[in-house]
Amino acid sequence: MYSRQILSRLTTSTIRSRCFASTLVLAEQIEGGKLAPVTLNTLTAAAQLKQDIDCVIFGTEKTNETANELKKFTNCNIKKILLAENAGFKGLLSESVTPVLLDIQKKNNYTHILGGSSTFAKGVLPRLAALLDVQPISDVTAVIDKSQYSRFIYAGNAILKLKSNDPVQIITVRGTAFEAAKQGTGSGEAQIEKVNSTPNNDLSEFVSRQVQQSERPELASARIIFSGGRALKSKENFKLLYDLADLFPGQATVGASRAAVDAGYCANDLQIGQTGKIVAPDLYVAIGISGAIQHIAGMKDSKVIVAINKDADSPIFAIADYGLTGDLFKVLPELTEKLKKK
Ligand code: FAD
Repeated sequence: MYSRQILSRLTTSTIRSRCFASTLVLAEQIEGGKLAPVTLNTLTAAAQLKQDIDCVIFGTEKTNETANELKKFTNCNIKKILLAENAGFKGLLSESVTPVLLDIQKKNNYTHILGGSSTFAKGVLPRLAALLDVQPISDVTAVIDKSQYSRFIYAGNAILKLKSNDPVQIITVRGTAFEAAKQGTGSGEAQIEKVNSTPNNDLSEFVSRQVQQSERPELASARIIFSGGRALKSKENFKLLYDLADLFPGQATVGASRAAVDAGYCANDLQIGQTGKIVAPDLYVAIGISGAIQHIAGMKDSKVIVAINKDADSPIFAIADYGLTGDLFKVLPELTEKLKKK
C-alpha cells in the first residue's frame, strides 16, 4: 500500500515534468563576463513560444555576473539561470559542453532548446540533437507556434515553413530576424543555480585563439557597414572604406563581398552573404558590389540600403533604398570630405 502510494506519486510527478512545456536558452558570454548581444535576440524568439524560460551559461569565470545582467530582462519570463562554470570550458569546445548540456536536459525535460546562430551554438546544438536523436532546426527567422517555424532557403529567395513533431525541439535562431530583448523594470525574479559541470576534455583540447584586435565594432553589432566589392581593385583601395567607417567611431565598420575577399583585398572574416556573415545594420552601403543573390542573402534585412555603382542596371539597385550611379573612386573621396566637414 505504502509503496503503491509512492509509485503513484512518482508517476504523477514524472508525467507532469514531461508534459510541462518549458524552454532552455543557451545564453552566451563575451569578454569580461558580459552577455553576448545574440542572446538578446534569442530571448525574443524564446519568449514567442509563450512558456517558462530557463537559461544556461557556460564559461570559465564570471558566469554569475552574466547571470545578473540576464536577470534584468524581466519581461522574458526567465525563471531560472543555470551556471555551468568550470576552468575546463576554456574555448567552449562543443565536445566538452554538450555532455553537460545533455545532462541538464535529462534532468529538466525541456521541450524547446534555443541558441543564437553563433559559432558556439551552431557547434553545440546539432551535437546535442544527435545525442537526443531529434532533428535540429537551424537558422529560424520566425516562430509560428510551438512546433512550426520559418527559415530561408535557396540563398534567401524562398521562405520554408517547417513543422517538427520531435519531443524536444532544438533550434538555432537567426539573430537579425528578431529584435533584441529589452530590459524590464525591477530586479528580476529569476533564480540563479549552479549546475554540476565537469567537462570531458578527452576528445579535444583548446590550444589557443587568435583574435584580430580592432577599434571598430564587430560586423554583427555595427550600426553602419561600408561594404566593398571587386570594384575596389586592391587591398590599398579598401582604405577608402576604412576612412569612411572611422568617421563614425564605435558605430561603423567595413564589410566585403566574396569577390573582394577571394581577390585578397581584405580578410575573409569581413565577407557578408550566404557563405559569410548575416548582418542587418541600420545603414548598409554597398560600394562596387553587383548584388548577386548570395551577397544579398547576407544583408537584405538591413534597415536602409545605399548602393554606389557605376552601372545603372546593376541588380543591387533593385533592393537599394537609395542609389548613386557613379565611379566609386570619384564618389568616395568626395563623400568622405563632405562628412568630415559635418
Ligand atoms: P562583381 O559581381 O564583379 O561586381 C562588381 C560591381 O562593381 C559591378 O556591379 C560593377 O558595375 C561595379 N563597379 C565596377 N567598377 C566600379 C567603379 N569604379 N565604381 C563603382 N562601381 C563599379 N558572394 C558574396 O558576396 N557573399 C557570399 O557569401 C557568397 N557566397 C557564395 C556562395 C556560393 C555557393 C556561390 C556560387 C557564390 C557566392 N558568392 C558570394 C559570390 C557571388 O555569386 C558573386 O560572385 C559576388 O558576390 C560578386 O561580388 P562583387 O559584387 O564584389 O563583384
